[in-house]
Amino acid sequence: MHKPVQSIFSQSFRDEISQLIRNIPDYPKPGIIFRDITTFINTPLFGDFIDSLKERYMSMNIDYIVGIESRGFIFGAPLACALNIGFVPIRKKGKLPFATASEKYSLEYGFDEVEIHTDAFRGAKARVVVIDDVIATGGTALASIKLIENIGAECVEACFLLNIDSLGGIEKIKNITQTLSILDVGD
Ligand code: AMP
Repeated sequence: MHKPVQSIFSQSFRDEISQLIRNIPDYPKPGIIFRDITTFINTPLFGDFIDSLKERYMSMNIDYIVGIESRGFIFGAPLACALNIGFVPIRKKGKLPFATASEKYSLEYGFDEVEIHTDAFRGAKARVVVIDDVIATGGTALASIKLIENIGAECVEACFLLNIDSLGGIEKIKNITQTLSILDVGD
């Protein structure tokens, strides 16, 4: 079991980011509070956030950053560039053009499926960090980590800007990888 990493960010930095994230009640359906990051990423704090993640990961021998469609791409691609390493997308079913590995996971109603190119990582046992904006139930993150491991890489850490604690997503993945969430909200 991995212990979730204590935040590497100062309380004031986290407060500043938190104030920039807009909560949209009842979107996309009643009862959901949607965490809108567009009001964060259109500020210079976005760059400061990427710089801070770079500081963390530059000493961890990471080979790839993996972003989960679609908002994980917004964080993952600039982070990979800042670290001067490769970026790999995990996409919803049917979007990747070459041979893929896929993983199904259950939603409230029905299933969803994510995919990765089978040749996404060069070399043996690549060390990767997977990133997304929000972890809610953890289904997407768990399926993504399985994909990474199924094609022979090691998920060193799963990183989320925001963790909705009451939904238990971190609990679901913390026995298979180290986790880092910058902001933790109750519900
Ligand atoms: P889950 O699989 O339940 O952990 O859901 C995670 C995925 O859904 C992430 O890719 C998030 O971008 C998105 N997501 C889930 N809940 C929310 C929310 N309340 N606000 C914004 N995005 C969400």
